[in-house]
This record gives sequence, structure tokens and C-alpha cells, in this order.
Amino acid sequence: MRIYLDNAATTPIDTEVFNAMTPYLLNHFGNPSSLHQQGREARKAIEDCRANIADLLNASPQEIIFTSGGTEADNTAIFSAVYSEGVKHVITTRFEHHAVLHTLEALHAKGIITVSFIKHDDKGVLDIAHLVELLQVSPRSLVSVMHANNEIGNLNDIEVIGELCERYNALFHTDTVQTMGHYRHDLQKLKIHFLAASAHKFHGPKGVGFLFCRKGVKLSQLIHGGGQEGRLRAGTENIHGIIGLTKALQIAYKNINQHQQHIQSLKTYMIERLMSEVPGVIFNGNSANINGSLYTVLNVGLPSVGYSRGLLECFDEHGISVSGGSACSAGAASHVLQAIATDVTKDNIRFSFSKLNTRAEIDQVIDALNNIYQTIAA
Ligand code: PLP
Repeated sequence: MRIYLDNAATTPIDTEVFNAMTPYLLNHFGNPSSLHQQGREARKAIEDCRANIADLLNASPQEIIFTSGGTEADNTAIFSAVYSEGVKHVITTRFEHHAVLHTLEALHAKGIITVSFIKHDDKGVLDIAHLVELLQVSPRSLVSVMHANNEIGNLNDIEVIGELCERYNALFHTDTVQTMGHYRHDLQKLKIHFLAASAHKFHGPKGVGFLFCRKGVKLSQLIHGGGQEGRLRAGTENIHGIIGLTKALQIAYKNINQHQQHIQSLKTYMIERLMSEVPGVIFNGNSANINGSLYTVLNVGLPSVGYSRGLLECFDEHGISVSGGSACSAGAASHVLQAIATDVTKDNIRFSFSKLNTRAEIDQVIDALNNIYQTIAA
């Protein structure tokens, strides 16, 4: 059996989620826009999902727009701020996903926006005083700061950032793709205008996610066509995906504390074993700081094996799936690791955990690592 420790790239779908989806592929196949009974049933299923998600996040159903995933939700948020809300300046970080950074680069290249980056220390911790300075200079900006980074796991304080945005009349977009279903988001309490989420990061299906857009904030339509999603996002709804997304989020919320405790204990155990058995190991970013990082991600700089294949391939040969960084940029140098102080002589590996991982698997990974080092030393 392979060991899967690449859950920040994607998670396996929950059987319960899969079982909830299949009737919507096989039997309830109606088009939600059709006026007959099968269409009306499909429409009701989608609207029930919207209400259930809104309920979990303490939002209202009209504030939830279903999308094809996190990338579309991020793009829609940024385009809305720029084209509908008239934002001309965006404050962001060097650590955002490319769904944000490449969108900003494209708008900047066309001369539509200017972009400022919040300063950070060598662990990637943001300098909030610098954010205040930027907001003082350009109050009506869009602030786009992710809740947690997908490569090094750094957690940003979206409660504090939201308060600052409110004080300076800025709009706040946060990418919660890595934290949705792992932390509770109370959207009455958090001063967020746009939030992006994706089902496949919390044991739901791929190709579906949602954007939260706060009531009163104007959305810009990215995909034109039919009148779906309140005329905000055209295209026949991915009904089985939306059912799966909702079921996955309900399961995640129901067991959130228990899963956090379990996954956190695996991460802590792995840190302990690496520190005691691998001389020269380092932890990238704020990854090993329990309170400052996502409990599902551990980014480690390991002594290099010294030949071209690298540790990633060695792990793969041992039946262990891990990653060198973001799956979307596989093969390219990580913009996240480049932005912080990393040791370039090390092999940087991201281990990312889920509720399905076990302590025995962590033991097998450390044993495999010891075995890899022993083989090259021999
Ligand atoms: N934002 C973050 C932080 C991510 O980790 C990812 C996926 O890796 C995305 C956005 C993109 O989400 P999706 O794959 O649903 O388009």
C-alpha cells in the first residue's frame, strides 16, 4: 500500500461523499434550469446545498456562488474588486497561490492596477505594521492575503487583517483553499469581502468550489452565458460536484476538533522523529511552529542525497507520495521558497497530512528516509 502524504495537493474523496454524489449522476440528472419536476428537484438540491454551506460559515445563501474551484473563485474576487468596485491598487504577499499572483500580474501588465507586497521576515511571517503603512497611503485598496500557504503552511491572522481593512475602507479577499474544512470560518465575525474555497482539499470532488462575496459588494461576471448563479456565473451547474462539496464540508465541520487533534499529533510526531534522527534537518517557513502554521503541512529541508534524482524520487520509489511544493507548479522553482530564507543545498520536501494518515505511516516514512541515507552512505 502506498503512503499518501500530499494532501495539500489534493485529498482522496470520502466514501460518504461519493455515495451522496452518485444519485445525482445516475438518477437525479435534471438540469436545474429546467421548469419540469426533474429540473425543479435539481434546483432544490442546489439551493439546499447553498443554504447548508452558508449555515456552516454563518453567511447568507445569496453570498455563496458555486465555481469550478479555488482558481475561478480567486480570479472572480480579484476581477470583481477591480472591474466592479473600481480598485486600482492591490496589496498582497509573495506567498499567494498563482491563481492570485498570475491574475494580479496580468492586470498589472495591462496597466489596470498597481501592486504592493507586504514585507515579511525570513520565516515568511507578514509584517502587519507594513500593511498598515500601505493602507495609510492607499486606503481604498484590495488586500489579497491567503489564510494559509499551501507550501510552507504559514497561517496569516485574517481576523486582524480584516479589522485593518475595515478601518481603512479596503476590500479584503482571502484564499482559504488550504484551510476550509480544517478551521471554522465565522463570516459574521471575520471582516472578509471575498473568500475562495475548493472541495478537493477537504475530501470532496475536484472541479468544484465556491466564492463567498459579502452582500453589498458588486461581483464582476467572469463567465458569460446563461443566467445561472443569480446571473453571476454562467454554465449548467455541476450538481453532483456541488452535492459532494456540501457533504464534504458537513463531514469536515462535524469532526473538525477530532481531526485537528489527530493530524496535529502526526505532524508533531514527525517533527520529533526528524529532529532526533536526521542531523541537519531544517523546517522551512513557520512550518514547525504549531500555532503559526497549518496543522496539515510540514515543509522540511533535508540533507541532499547528492545525486540527480533527489529525495522526492527516492520517496516515490519507496511507495511514498510527497511533494517538493505546489502541485500546480511541479518542476518549477518554488516562488514561496524563493521568497524566504531556504537552504538551497537541501532537498525541500512538503509532507501534507489528512485524517486518513496514521502514526504507523509516519514511522514507515522515517524508516524509509533512514534507509535512503544508509544506502547512499554504503
Ligand atoms: N489556492 C491555493 C492556496 C491552493 O492550494 C490551490 C490548489 O492547489 C488553489 C488556490 C487552486 O484551487 P483549485 O485547484 O480548486 O483551482
